[in-house]
Amino acid sequence: MELESVLGKIEKSRADIVREMVDMIRIPALAPVNGGSGEGERADHLVSRLEGYDSVVRIDVPDDTDPSIMRPNILARKNGPEEGTVWIVAHMDTVPVGNLDDWESPPFEPRVENGRIYGRGTEDNGQAVISSMFASKFLDKNKLTKRSIGIAYVADEEMTSAMGIEYLLDNGCFSEKDVFIVPDWGSPGGMHIEIAEKNLIWLNFEITGKSTHGSTPNKGANALRASSHLIVELEKAFGKEFPESDPMFIPSKSTFEPTRSIATVENVNTVPGYHEFSMDIRLLPEYDLDDVVITARYVASCISEKYGTDIAVREVQRHRSGKQSATDDPAYLALRESVKQVTGREPTPVGVGGATCANFFRVKGYNAYVWETGGGTLHTPNEYVEIENIITDAKVFATLFYKLCF
Ligand SMILES: [Zn+2]
Repeated sequence: MELESVLGKIEKSRADIVREMVDMIRIPALAPVNGGSGEGERADHLVSRLEGYDSVVRIDVPDDTDPSIMRPNILARKNGPEEGTVWIVAHMDTVPVGNLDDWESPPFEPRVENGRIYGRGTEDNGQAVISSMFASKFLDKNKLTKRSIGIAYVADEEMTSAMGIEYLLDNGCFSEKDVFIVPDWGSPGGMHIEIAEKNLIWLNFEITGKSTHGSTPNKGANALRASSHLIVELEKAFGKEFPESDPMFIPSKSTFEPTRSIATVENVNTVPGYHEFSMDIRLLPEYDLDDVVITARYVASCISEKYGTDIAVREVQRHRSGKQSATDDPAYLALRESVKQVTGREPTPVGVGGATCANFFRVKGYNAYVWETGGGTLHTPNEYVEIENIITDAKVFATLFYKLCF
């Protein structure tokens, strides 16, 4: 089995790749908390598609909001004689479809057009599920001379990962000798390997004033006005407290975005007594998330005093980013070389604001590398994946397996 022949087989698999993607996307895999029934049915299907492995282990974790639903994780392996496994980690779950009217065709009835497959979950993270399947498919397990080849299909990435990668890590499914590749963020042409992620915190600001008639604002306290000033002052304060930029990161600075906001009053002539908005904050790893909360509470107290309101700052979610993955590690060098061999270009390391399964590995002290080609339609209506990108990714991962396992 020579690599060239394996890459040739992947190249000739275009029709099979499309079929596998379409068959999988037809089976929704939404978290129960989003109104879905989990990844169970999709996992059943995928297990039936994983042929030629030495072992396919399924680890079901009861859902924390509905224990009658199991959240499945699949670990498939072709066993090599040496210790350690080269893992490609992909997640099976998807985000909800959003507004159906924004879709040009039904999100779970994939449409193949102009070299693309449209549907919810095609790019995020179907691309990785299918590319890893074809990367490992043609590699002969009987000829492995080094590490094992591993494919991990995990649950619950879009919400908490507690029933997915975090559970697997906490339950000893991986070892120090393993290599972790997480294709869940991509760049055009695969020019970047993601080695670091920012810290994340979501804050909710709840502003209570006093409602009154629009003609007598002096009798009330306008929660929307206080809220608006709060947003402006928060932006100034965060800019001052967290000014650093790191050119390795895309974008290079910490980001502080007001996002969700609730409606205030139904009619124009009522002064709103309550308003609420949220911020999505991605902080460069050198900064401490506690300092963000301290700054936010301080600014909120100043605004409260000035506008006669009461402001509660509530933390909705936080993720500390793990240590940046090493760029002198043999796994990084092998991935970089594999990308170069297949695409003709040497990728460079970057950090991003997004959060992937890779961070759970990094928090535990492992190196994890995030790489795939393309990217950009995830979580949007009319999500699609370029078929060519799946083929390129499969070839890169096959090359990587070849370097580290044979
Ligand atoms: Zn994803």
